[in-house]
Amino acid sequence: MANLSLITPIEYLKGVGPQKADVLKKELQVFTIGDLLLYYPFRYIDRTKFYKIQQLHPDLVGAQVLGRLISLQEVGEKRSRRLVGQLRDDTGMIELVWFQSITWLKKNLKIGSAYIIYGKPIEFNGQLSITHPEMDLYNSQEKKVGNMSMQPVYSSTEKLKKFSLDTKGLQRLQQTALETVFRTLQESLPNYILERHQLLPYPQALVAIHFPQHVNDLNAATKRLKFEELFFIQLRLLRNKQLNTQKYKGHRFDRVGDKFNTFFTKRLPFPLTNAQKRVVKEIRLDTNTGSQMNRLVQGDVGSGKTVVALMSMLLAVDNGYQACMMAPTEILANQHYIGLKELLGEDICTIKLLTGSTSAKERRILHRELEEGTLDILIGTHALIEDKVKFKNIGFVVIDEQHRFGVEQRAKLWRKNAIPPHMLVMTATPIPRTLAMTLYGDLDISIIDELPAGRKPIKTVHFFESSRLRMFGFMRDEIAKGRQVYVVFPLIKESEKLDLLYLEAGLENLQREFPLPQYKISIVHGKMPVKDKDFEMQRFVKGETQIMVATTVIEVGVNVPNASVMVIENSERFGLSQLHQLRGRVGRGAEQSYCILMSGNKLSKDGRQRLQTMVRTNDGFEIAEVDLRLRGPGDISGTQQSGVLDMKIANLASDQAVLTEARATVIEIFNEDPSLSSEKNRLLVDYFNRRSPLFNWDKIS
Ligand code: ADP
Ligand code: MG
Repeated sequence: MANLSLITPIEYLKGVGPQKADVLKKELQVFTIGDLLLYYPFRYIDRTKFYKIQQLHPDLVGAQVLGRLISLQEVGEKRSRRLVGQLRDDTGMIELVWFQSITWLKKNLKIGSAYIIYGKPIEFNGQLSITHPEMDLYNSQEKKVGNMSMQPVYSSTEKLKKFSLDTKGLQRLQQTALETVFRTLQESLPNYILERHQLLPYPQALVAIHFPQHVNDLNAATKRLKFEELFFIQLRLLRNKQLNTQKYKGHRFDRVGDKFNTFFTKRLPFPLTNAQKRVVKEIRLDTNTGSQMNRLVQGDVGSGKTVVALMSMLLAVDNGYQACMMAPTEILANQHYIGLKELLGEDICTIKLLTGSTSAKERRILHRELEEGTLDILIGTHALIEDKVKFKNIGFVVIDEQHRFGVEQRAKLWRKNAIPPHMLVMTATPIPRTLAMTLYGDLDISIIDELPAGRKPIKTVHFFESSRLRMFGFMRDEIAKGRQVYVVFPLIKESEKLDLLYLEAGLENLQREFPLPQYKISIVHGKMPVKDKDFEMQRFVKGETQIMVATTVIEVGVNVPNASVMVIENSERFGLSQLHQLRGRVGRGAEQSYCILMSGNKLSKDGRQRLQTMVRTNDGFEIAEVDLRLRGPGDISGTQQSGVLDMKIANLASDQAVLTEARATVIEIFNEDPSLSSEKNRLLVDYFNRRSPLFNWDKIS
């Protein structure tokens, strides 16, 4: 067994061999002994807890019982051949049943002896039994309870089980692996950090996570390993951030000029909220440091991110640079363009729109103006990042609703200038803190946590199908008051046909309830040509139609202040953040607004919780947290490419405290020792030298 270490291929571990190695690789991506040790148990059975036979019931996932084996009998023939034992304690009797290893069991089990058994109680013909229980002879002299108090359970697959790699088999392998490489295990965190945070040394933690002797062991090991995992992710992110600032000189915006001031004093139709002021100031300071800014602005729907973006762009223009703003859809780019143009008026600076629908002729003019520098601000879709689009001097880039843009796209914008422009990323809705720290951990974060004054909170109700007529009545009342209504249908890619059916049936229904000529309805869905979409949108924006029936194309950014009711059909089929975004389309004017969540009678537990959350709160930050808890980070957009999902033990939904601690520690370390040159941080440098990057973001910088 000499010379085996963490990086030794798994087939060399005793008890593995080529076949088992093969399934381990295919099923669990375990290639080395180190990989195996990183395959942690997903839960533990508390072997200190005993059940009396009378307390057993089929809802238990597993139970441990101390009893005496009073009989053992082979029954049935051929395929129904089985071994049946009877276990008794002072409260009753239960049957134990085995279909395999019958000969061996008959020889080894001792009738009349006391056993500690473990297994899942099942009910069959009204009788409780346990199939294939684990059997441990009870040794009263040693007062030993099995051999562990917390028994690890590893998740396994059918294929693994074929090679005896069920939870027991995996447990045995882990034991061999630990014994084999224990002496080579090295600490990865500096001593002073272990001490300061009272963390177990690595080898000890690794043993305890696989074979905890006590629940306290397990807790200490879990804490240590979570801290380590999150610590190194943060170390990498903050290291990238630090390198960016050192490597990239940034444009220095050292003055607030005429354009910014004219806009602020003459054009701005409302006072900024304190949160908006604070964020504009953060951006102003950050663009005047001589380093490139990379900032994320988080704000709830309707918190007024756009005007913050505009003022930042004016700051760039005042300092002699161009600016651009990129939106994820054509509709949204359009609306930004129209809105910003109106806010700016004619004389502050030049602004144009570039999307897939821009004609070749317009494009040629626009390209020329960009290169000559006569165009100050460009709004657009991802058409902006095409290589043909060249700026004379781009100084500031805004990405609206970032999570739809890949990291690669962000990078393309950087390369549009010798000195990379300042980057401002705006989220559509808030994302949970832990996710922000991990997905955008290399960005600075600004938060707009205040809505403009005078907004009336949207009232949200949940209606079942049986209240449909009431809902129609309510729509009629609101329309009679001169307001407009959205009715949104779900759109789920896998079943476009079905979705269209829903939409058509729903539409027919609406047309019957709201007939011409009294009522007019706009329809927008994903399959329509952009021109028709725009036309329909515009009819609604201008108030020519009272009802807008749509699939989720209106999800992002659309602004119609006179719309006061949002009806969401099949609302149980939407995710929380989507529901919140949709709701954010109303409540933009002075009137009281409403959101009506329609759903079928049958709701899943998650579905019910989503709708209840929507009814309970309007706070996007709170909703984002619930969303993370319900779905886990895997389903939240933007996480797929980020490495968040590769976490072995930490969980962004529940480990906020550890994450905050880890990040604060890393920040402290960089403040004290920016180049990690002090001896006590040597292990951290080793980390960078040893590991392949967790995140590919290095490439971008
Ligand atoms: P979001 O943050 O969702 O992008 P918007 O920037 O679209 O929000 O702003 C929503 C609406 O609120 C717009 O009509 C905008 O003009 C308005 N608005 C923004 N800031 C203020 C403010 N300080 N006071 C009043 N209205 C504001
Ligand atoms: Mg917006």
